[in-house]
Amino acid sequence: KLSTRLETVTSFIQTGMRIADIGSDHAYLPCYAVNKGIAQSAIAGEVVDGPYQSALQQVKKSGLTNQINVRKGDGLEVISPFEVDCIIIAGMGGALITDILERGMNKLEGVKRLILQPNIGAENIRKWLYDHNWQLVDEKLVEEDGKFYEILVADIGDPTIPYKDFKKEFLLGPFLLKNKNEAFIKKWQLELNQWINILKELEKAGDNYKVSARKDEISKKIAIVMEE
Ligand code: SAM
Repeated sequence: KLSTRLETVTSFIQTGMRIADIGSDHAYLPCYAVNKGIAQSAIAGEVVDGPYQSALQQVKKSGLTNQINVRKGDGLEVISPFEVDCIIIAGMGGALITDILERGMNKLEGVKRLILQPNIGAENIRKWLYDHNWQLVDEKLVEEDGKFYEILVADIGDPTIPYKDFKKEFLLGPFLLKNKNEAFIKKWQLELNQWINILKELEKAGDNYKVSARKDEISKKIAIVMEE
């Protein structure tokens, strides 16, 4: 059985899409998506040998070697332009995800949908999507084992459409804000507590330019979340 997190990621694949799962590890997601008849075919990309081998094993064991291609390489270098309709990058930090997209920009030609699940730093991904003409079309927040995961879905389109108040919506997510469920409240309560602790530590650190810049940044975030 697939985790709720990866199942939710999979739910945003449109039926018949050719997908690439970058940083696939065990290739659970592409195996599930192809097995269920959601994805037509898949490429599982892995840069590290251990996970690459386990992806190969899993695909073989599932009897899906005809539909799923496991490829070893860094980020989007494992795909060609127009080869897939949908790229999935899940379970990494937001900075790594935007770095992979940035370095693989030429491979995004022909891609219709990005499904991104950062473990942290979703704000940077929303900004990156906005700056590169990807329209955020949906978001989900999943709680699993006490952790919170944001899933961002973007299609080619008008990136301005979901936004009214950039500062607030880049941080909290325009779609997630419209549906402030229990997980949302819990996640931001936790973040808020952490920021307050960091601020306390910074107070002790004394004042210099870097410290006060960081204090400013955190205070702004606190103000945004408190307003909600
Ligand atoms: N996507 C799976 C998931 O969400 O469960 C696995 C997440 S795992 C924590 C992250 C994987 O990304 C690791 O297997 C790692 O080797 C791989 N990875 C990290 N940087 C990568 C890169 N630049 N290109 C391809 N894979 C990468």
